[in-house]
Amino acid sequence: MIQVTRSSMPDFEEYCNEIRSMWDSHWLTNMGEKHQRLEAMLKEYLDTPNAVLYANGHLALEDAIAAMRLPEGGEIITTPFTFASTTHAIVRKGCRPVFCDIDPDDFTLDASKLRSLITEKTCAILPVHVYGHICHTDEIQSIADEYGLKVIYDAAHAFGVIKNGVSAANFGDVSMFSFHATKVFNTIEGGALCFRDGSLTEEFNHRKNFGICNPTDVVFVGGNAKMNEFQAAMGICNLRHVDEEINKRRTADSVYRELLGNVQGIILPKIREDSENRHNYAYFPVLFDGFGYSRDEISDRLKENGIIARKYFYPLTSSFECYRGMDFAKNARTPVAAYCADRILTLPLYADLTTEEIERICRVVLRGR
Ligand SMILES: *Cc1c(COP(=O)(O)O)cnc(C)c1O
Repeated sequence: MIQVTRSSMPDFEEYCNEIRSMWDSHWLTNMGEKHQRLEAMLKEYLDTPNAVLYANGHLALEDAIAAMRLPEGGEIITTPFTFASTTHAIVRKGCRPVFCDIDPDDFTLDASKLRSLITEKTCAILPVHVYGHICHTDEIQSIADEYGLKVIYDAAHAFGVIKNGVSAANFGDVSMFSFHATKVFNTIEGGALCFRDGSLTEEFNHRKNFGICNPTDVVFVGGNAKMNEFQAAMGICNLRHVDEEINKRRTADSVYRELLGNVQGIILPKIREDSENRHNYAYFPVLFDGFGYSRDEISDRLKENGIIARKYFYPLTSSFECYRGMDFAKNARTPVAAYCADRILTLPLYADLTTEEIERICRVVLRGR
């Protein structure tokens, strides 16, 4: 069996050494020593002035929306070509998603379609750096500035990515990272918010702890989204090895590209890497368009051969059953996103995927051609 991904883990001894001190301190959560150390390490790694750790990426995103002080029922322009979390966070925080179509070259929000979606109720833009491809940040920011809109990035896929010398953590008003087990960098479950305005640090720290400011002052109707010490210790260990992990993913990506890069009907998104740009190889998305077999046929054939690929992202969030009949879902006009969702398949990619395994996967994909 080849799974679509495989969580990065440090050596067992390395993790044991990292958590040993907790048997002396008995300090297991609530911004302990491991939490503080990981937060400092991540600020440095992501080259960002402010970072607040979370129990997971989704709750971080909900707090990011809450802290922007958006009006109840305000419209947030976003993409339906994403994981459930992005759209759910908007709806759960009392706002209304307005779906914008995507750019077929990198699967991120098509900034040229933004203006036509802005109304007097629009209060924010929430784009996603899909598969680690950084959004069209300059165009998005200039439209946001023109209309006075907040920009919240779902950077769950973009850990360690750098575009034109700028870290993925430093775009917009706030960026959410996920450290879920399936991501390039993991803390088992986990996440973080990164942002330029340092005055938000305190607010996020309070929001993730029930809104408690001190033992007698509760200033927000906050939830509980604190990262615990075992998660932070996992992060400290994994962060030591993340560059090596990304390098191994880059090698695997290049083997795939060699085998699938010049095949009629297989489209691979372009990646730019140079002294100012770095990719993280979080996923290996393939668009089957005029290949002779459909995406579903290829996916089934892989499964019959013990290889698990993922229809990521399919279906569009605007087609979810939980949103059926709602105006914002019915009004969605995103033909490019729908086209991509029907044809996209992410093939297995993780640091320890071997060249032989990639060759086997590609043989199954290309069989009959
Ligand atoms: C993983 C992911 C999330 C949610 O992160 P969790 O840490 O699992 O809560 C949100 N958005 C996208 C695009 C993701 O891939």
